[in-house]
Amino acid sequence: MGEFIYLDHAATTQTAPEVLDAMLPYLQEYYGNPSSSYRLAVSSRKAVEKARGVIADMIHAKEQEIFFTGGGTESDNWALKAVAESLQKKGRHIITTQIEHHAILHTCEYLEKRGFEVTYLPVNEQGFVSPHTLKQAIRKDTVLISVMFANNEIGTLQPVSQIGQIAHERGILFHTDAVQAFCQMSIDVREMQIDLMSASGHKCYGPKGVGFLYVGERVPMTPFLHGGAQERKLRAGTENVAGIVGFGAAVAMCKKTLLERAEKERVLRDHLIDRILSEVPYTRLNGSRKMRLPNNANFSFQFIEGENLLVLLDMDGICASGGSACTTGSTEPSHVLKAIGLPDGLANGSLRLTLGAGTSMEEIDRTVEAVKKHVAKLRDGSVVYEDFLARQWDHSL
Ligand SMILES: *Cc1c(COP(=O)(O)O)cnc(C)c1O
Repeated sequence: MGEFIYLDHAATTQTAPEVLDAMLPYLQEYYGNPSSSYRLAVSSRKAVEKARGVIADMIHAKEQEIFFTGGGTESDNWALKAVAESLQKKGRHIITTQIEHHAILHTCEYLEKRGFEVTYLPVNEQGFVSPHTLKQAIRKDTVLISVMFANNEIGTLQPVSQIGQIAHERGILFHTDAVQAFCQMSIDVREMQIDLMSASGHKCYGPKGVGFLYVGERVPMTPFLHGGAQERKLRAGTENVAGIVGFGAAVAMCKKTLLERAEKERVLRDHLIDRILSEVPYTRLNGSRKMRLPNNANFSFQFIEGENLLVLLDMDGICASGGSACTTGSTEPSHVLKAIGLPDGLANGSLRLTLGAGTSMEEIDRTVEAVKKHVAKLRDGSVVYEDFLARQWDHSL
């Protein structure tokens, strides 16, 4: 599939070759169940614990604070539901933001139906949560604050350390969905005062269907899946050994390459942003110019439908995504772009390009050329654009 220009690394990444190599023996020779007692099984058990050690080390946690899950969605569900259930006697109020991933938002809606109250903090035009607004939202019965580390659509990085500090000053637990940030930025759960953190394997060159939830030692938890005694009796089910080994290998690789890769991606990202903003008229960058993921660019083009642009880019072999989520038949504008205050027209004309370890300058330049060509073509056929030009012409007379 070498003919594609893949610029959708926020959706998923390709499993790295060394990750696959690390996984294969655990699908073949070492197939034992980690819970069994014979020597064959010891290999599986040791491999799972080695991966746990690598991951714990990466975020400055203890090994016993890392719980393997079936991915980012499960980690988010578990964090919110378990804390809510454990602390409901203390209070039933949760604070989150309007721009979270649906794994958080829909879990919050579920909890609301069970009698919990949720405050969805607004964000400013760049997508930042205000620490001041957060403080004001805190109540006596607030038990959990869940704010994502980095936004998956517009890349905005939240002031995580500040949020952790605010939460802890008031004795409230702090969860962060770090699925996009993990392995893209250095994370220190102690320094940043994070109590729970979600991450996912397939967003950082590992396999799909594996993730972890970091749970600080003092956080009260309830099991998410009931059954066997795996994962310290909190997440039952035979471990996804090969997946966990692959996740560990991906993290070990990222540990070595993170800073260098982030710097390389930042240069390409800024080149992409500069070219698009200067060469495509009536365009804006969504999110913060500086405080954003090193691999994320998100634009809105006036007078076009993002969906149409994606189809044309796909025909050129360019894999990108819109800021909007398609719901059967109707195209709802993205909740994130709405939350930063974009009118529907701009929210519908959005394009997210997310870079990866293998992205080259040549690919970026080819993508810019394709975007320029297709946006111009789409505007040519647009009544709204013609109208706009006609009005401009009137004004200039
Ligand atoms: C992808 C993503 C998830 C979901 O992770 P899965 O492993 O695909 O379930 C959750 N949160 C954010 C911010 C994501 O980008």
